[in-house]
Amino acid sequence: MKRVVFTEAEIASRVGELGAAITDAYPDGDLLVLGLLKGSFIFVSDLVRAIRRPLQVDFLVVSSYGNEMVSSGNVRLVYDPETVLAGKHILLVEDIVDTGRTLARVMEILRARGPRSIEVCALLDKHDRSFIPTPPRFLGFDAPSEFLVGYGLDHAENFRHLPYVASLQ
Ligand code: 5GP
Ligand code: MG
Repeated sequence: MKRVVFTEAEIASRVGELGAAITDAYPDGDLLVLGLLKGSFIFVSDLVRAIRRPLQVDFLVVSSYGNEMVSSGNVRLVYDPETVLAGKHILLVEDIVDTGRTLARVMEILRARGPRSIEVCALLDKHDRSFIPTPPRFLGFDAPSEFLVGYGLDHAENFRHLPYVASLQ
C-alpha cells in the first residue's frame, strides 16, 4: 500500500522557496549545481528553474563499494563532471539524506579540487545522523523514517516518475 507523503503542489511550492533562498545566498561568483544521479534528476530540473541567477549544471554518478544493503560511505565517482570545479561555488543536490555518509564522502572528494565553496541542497532528510552530523544548508522537507519513492526516488528502478513522494509502507 502506498501513502502520499508530499504532494505535487507541496513540492512545487517548497522548491520555489528553495530556489529563492539559493538565489539570495549566492550574490556573486560562478555557481555550479551538481546533481547526484539518478535520484536527484527531477529535483535538479525543477530547482534550477527556480534559481534566478546565472549557473551551470552537471551531474555526478556515485557507486558504493561492499555491502549494498547499508550505506557504507565507501564511494567512488563513476561519472566525474568534466567541468572545472576550482574557484566555483558548488551546490551539491541530493534526493534524500539518511545517515549522510554518502554526501560526506562525496564532499571530501570534491573539496580536494579547490572549489570556492561547497553546500548541499537536499529534497528530503531523514535525520538519521548515527555517523556524520552534517545537515544540508538547504532542505526541502524533514522525511519520516519510511522507505520513500517518487519525484526521482526509486525502488528497484521503479516509481521515479511519480510527481509526488510516497511511502511504500
Ligand atoms: P546515506 O548515505 O545518507 O545513509 O544514504 C543516502 C542514500 O540512500 C540516498 O541517496 C538514497 O539513494 C538512499 N535512500 C535513503 N533513504 C531512502 C528512501 O527512503 N528511499 C529511496 N528510494 N532511497 C533512499
Ligand atoms: Mg541517492
